[in-house]
Amino acid sequence: DPGLYLVATPIGAARDITLRALDVLNSADLLAAEDTRVLRHLMDIHGIPLRGRRILSYHDHNGDRARPALLAALADGGSVTYCSDAGTPLVADPGYRLALDAAEAGARVHALPGPSAALAALSVAGLPSDRFLFLGFPPSTATARQTWLRGWMAVDSTLILYESPRRVSRCLQDIAAIDPARIAVVARELTKKFEEVIRGAAGDLASDPRMEALKGEVVMVLDRPSAVEVDDDRLRTVLLRHMATM
Ligand code: SAM
Repeated sequence: DPGLYLVATPIGAARDITLRALDVLNSADLLAAEDTRVLRHLMDIHGIPLRGRRILSYHDHNGDRARPALLAALADGGSVTYCSDAGTPLVADPGYRLALDAAEAGARVHALPGPSAALAALSVAGLPSDRFLFLGFPPSTATARQTWLRGWMAVDSTLILYESPRRVSRCLQDIAAIDPARIAVVARELTKKFEEVIRGAAGDLASDPRMEALKGEVVMVLDRPSAVEVDDDRLRTVLLRHMATM
């Protein structure tokens, strides 16, 4: 069937790919990937031949140049399959502009759901999962990160962040400066050989030497503010509103 297919790919374990994803990779007219070698490798592992098809490169830095060819293939009634390096396209990954332009041009956009590090981390974090907010990557500079954290940590929701392993320790220190009792979970190398889930109060994790030498890929999950803090916020809002009427 024609249309754009956004295919989720493994975040570690190569067999974490759906049967439908393999079908779509097999039958696509045109393949596009954030990194063509990564998709090539995945197709090799699962025995999917290229059959003369090329894999076009489509990532954040060439998106504007590469999109017209993909949109033209869709306009011709073809199928285009897009994979980012790992996990679900568009989730802190390229694909948003492609999906939007394809939809606006009248093409069908199909999701092939599968792995995403954010949801894998939520599954193992042991934190409330009825309401969560995915925040992507925090700012990398200290001042910007502190302001950013202060804002989001006031939200009454479990928070999911992607963070570079080099910055986890500093990020935890910033979290602890705002709320040392906040439960934080560091989920590392999910679905891979060295998978590890470390959980504790932000104040304790901030001084945990294991956070200094982290390797691999990391998702951080933060608990929502405690009921007391949320009540404090509500109380403040009520008081401010009351004062405004005085
Ligand atoms: N689109 C992807 C998804 O759906 O998860 C995320 C892409 S983002 C550019 C890459 C980040 O995802 C990494 O820096 C890390 O925070 C997280 N990540 C990816 N794979 C992971 C894994 N196996 N374990 C822990 N975190 C992972």
